[in-house]
Amino acid sequence: MALLEAGGRDWNPWIHVPVGYFKTMHDPRVDWCYRTAPDPGLEGRSIEWPRGKVLGGSSALNGLLYIRGQREDYDHWQSLGNGGWSYQDVLPYFKRSEDQERGADQYHGAGGPLGVSDIRIRRKICDQFIQSAIALDIPANDDFNGLDQEGVGYFQLTLRRGLRCSTATGFLKPARKRANLTVLTGARVTRVEFEGRTAVGVRVLVGGEQRTIRARAEVVLSAGAIGSPQLLQLSGVGPGAILRDQGIDVLHDLPGVGENLQDHLQIRSVYTCSIPTLNDEVNNFFRRMGIGIQFILTRSGPMSMGASQVCAFTRSEPGLNRPDIQFHIQPLSSDNPGHGLDHFSAFTSSVCQLRPESRGHVRVQSPDPMASPTIFANYLDSPVDRQVAVAGVRVGRRIARAAPLSQSVIDEREPGWALESDDEILAWVRARATTIYHPVGTCKMGLGTDAVVDPRLRVRGIDRLMVVDASIMPTIVSGNTNAPTIMIAEKAADMMRERPA
Ligand SMILES: Cc1cc2nc3c(=O)[nH]c(=O)nc-3n(C[C@H](O)[C@H](O)[C@H](O)COP(=O)(O)OP(=O)(O)OC[C@H]3O[C@@H](n4cnc5c(N)ncnc54)[C@H](O)[C@@H]3O)c2cc1C
Repeated sequence: MALLEAGGRDWNPWIHVPVGYFKTMHDPRVDWCYRTAPDPGLEGRSIEWPRGKVLGGSSALNGLLYIRGQREDYDHWQSLGNGGWSYQDVLPYFKRSEDQERGADQYHGAGGPLGVSDIRIRRKICDQFIQSAIALDIPANDDFNGLDQEGVGYFQLTLRRGLRCSTATGFLKPARKRANLTVLTGARVTRVEFEGRTAVGVRVLVGGEQRTIRARAEVVLSAGAIGSPQLLQLSGVGPGAILRDQGIDVLHDLPGVGENLQDHLQIRSVYTCSIPTLNDEVNNFFRRMGIGIQFILTRSGPMSMGASQVCAFTRSEPGLNRPDIQFHIQPLSSDNPGHGLDHFSAFTSSVCQLRPESRGHVRVQSPDPMASPTIFANYLDSPVDRQVAVAGVRVGRRIARAAPLSQSVIDEREPGWALESDDEILAWVRARATTIYHPVGTCKMGLGTDAVVDPRLRVRGIDRLMVVDASIMPTIVSGNTNAPTIMIAEKAADMMRERPA
């Protein structure tokens, strides 16, 4: 078996230090550094879409937050015709992959490849957010991946002994010694090769040379929600008219390839406060040194933190039957997290709609495999998405105004209390919101004509070609997407094993 990765090995030490995503994100040595096309939903802004370009992919750069989504997400996949993908079907794969620090139970696994640990940093402003949310009848929850997702509490992270557990460290490293596995890095796949409608290998650019690698059994694309549809399109599998426009010969007209793009839009309110936050700690030279020493000695403290500390899953309107928004709370604030923290005490209360209805696309804009595809996110296209965005900001405000958090909040710096009407809040969202880095759906699993892969993840109409990554999600899950993608890969591994050789 050959594993081909366009990026390099995960030698950059910042990949392994949890807080290192501040350093690795936007670094072209490990990030594809995509940008979206100008988006009318964001006032025509084009925003950065980091994606990992290194062994481990985006799991080597991500915010480490371990969330599986809601039971109903998977039952919905099943109801769309995807037999074998109900919550009861996928739970064993979540458990199998997991090495839960708290031990195994009905919902969790221990001893698996993916380290999952409790957060190793707590701050007063985070505790106050939790208490205020509870005061507003959002239940306390210390396990978002257990019986019920709803509630507020601290995140768990994909950490093992204080270091990041990416898919490369958790899954690949232990398998590297296998005699039947070859790992090629710096190997950029440029197209899939076919004989008739059977995939027989890939063209790959490695060390400046084009090579063909033939597959004895099958070709599996796991290039992510941007890379997998791009590779299919470059190989002549995709929407016929769009491919022909780009001068690509159409092998198989499959209209759904690259369509159905979904993401979570991150709407970040910032509150200045009267108690110190990480802004104060990190901007002080001596305290920064202390943070470094704390991490070296105990693998805890701010350097061990994920992208957010506190999570809340709740409802934007009381009548809803399940949470439709998620809060990510950070005891810090920054205009651009890769470029330093603000020089005043503040925290960030970021909200996102969990199941957006807007759909975008990924389309090649050239037959050149080295050219980035067009990524059109189409945020806030659906009226429901606009309504939930505004309602989410209002829920965040209610929490900030509730005791005890209200005693620490000085001002709402963003969007600012002065913005009160729905139109004003929506205009601010359009001007400021960004991604939570969860693109999915562009090689949708299903049975209809718009589906790209069938429920066994085989590309429809093509033999010996699978897609196994976040792109196959028919609808985005209600939460962060790393753990669900790993679950998809676990299930795919079983499906491959079940097939006759
Ligand atoms: C900055 C950031 C923060 C995030 N934070 C979180 C979080 O806290 N929690 C969470 O659950 N999720 C988070 N996510 C999302 C999560 O990491 C992804 O959903 C998940 O990793 C997707 O996995 P994937 O296999 O679909 O794609 P990827 O992980 O992106 O893997 C695709 C791989 O394919 C390689 N590749 C692409 N094209 C080619 C080619 N042509 N030839 C060879 N190789 C190629 C890429 O280099 C990459 O290694 C975050 C993502 C990012 C980018």
